[in-house]
Amino acid sequence: MLATLSRETAAYGVRLTPRQTRQFETYLSLLADWSQRVNLVGNADAEVVQRRHFLESIALGAALREREILRPDTDLLDVGAGAGFPGAVLKIVWPGIRLTLLEATAKKTAFLSALVESLELDETAVLTGRAETLAHTPGLRGRFDLVVARAVAPLAVLLELTLPFARVGGRVVTPKGSRAAEEIAAAGHALAVLGGKVFTVPLPVPGPPQTLVAVMKERETPSEYPRRPGLPAKSPL
Ligand code: SAH
Repeated sequence: MLATLSRETAAYGVRLTPRQTRQFETYLSLLADWSQRVNLVGNADAEVVQRRHFLESIALGAALREREILRPDTDLLDVGAGAGFPGAVLKIVWPGIRLTLLEATAKKTAFLSALVESLELDETAVLTGRAETLAHTPGLRGRFDLVVARAVAPLAVLLELTLPFARVGGRVVTPKGSRAAEEIAAAGHALAVLGGKVFTVPLPVPGPPQTLVAVMKERETPSEYPRRPGLPAKSPL
């Protein structure tokens, strides 16, 4: 069932243990089951999930691991985790991570909670709510070593939703396709206001080229950010 995944993780220097293989199998079947009721991924076909979601998340993790941006005990937040990409996949492959999955849609966090229980993921929290609100919560604001977000918003918007959660010296990382340079150029003001410095990391994936946009948090984000729910997307910095 997992032929594609087992074969192709090697390209990223990842060899799945029997436990990890079982966890990915369970992940696939839970996704297929829940997808009949909840819209979790565009296409829950096993082959598509393995390539587009599992492998791309592993590629992202491997690129960050190689640069020590992801460490064995990183305190990691995934904003807009959806069905768990990339956060839950990173936790399976690098189990020492302390993981928080944040997602606005309750139906999706119900799935994430079921997933965390079925896969017996330790040190994993699932939070239902909007980033705009939760980023003002003590215990979450300014806490994380690494904040990841995939396919959530254009960079300028995404930074307002994610950078407040990072600690000073921590990073926000998001994969972007062909529009990476354009989005970076458009995010100049957001970076200046929110206190981040941008750099890019190559992301070797099959298919259309992708880049990891990484932002180092250089100073505290002013307390008025993020603005109220909806405003970051409606009126980007
Ligand atoms: N990261 C996943 C899901 C991408 S879809 C993946 O790559 O497959 C984007 C997800 O972000 C949706 O599930 C949506 O509910 C969530 N989202 C969008 N804006 C959000 C916000 N402001 N706060 C929390 N979650 C948000």
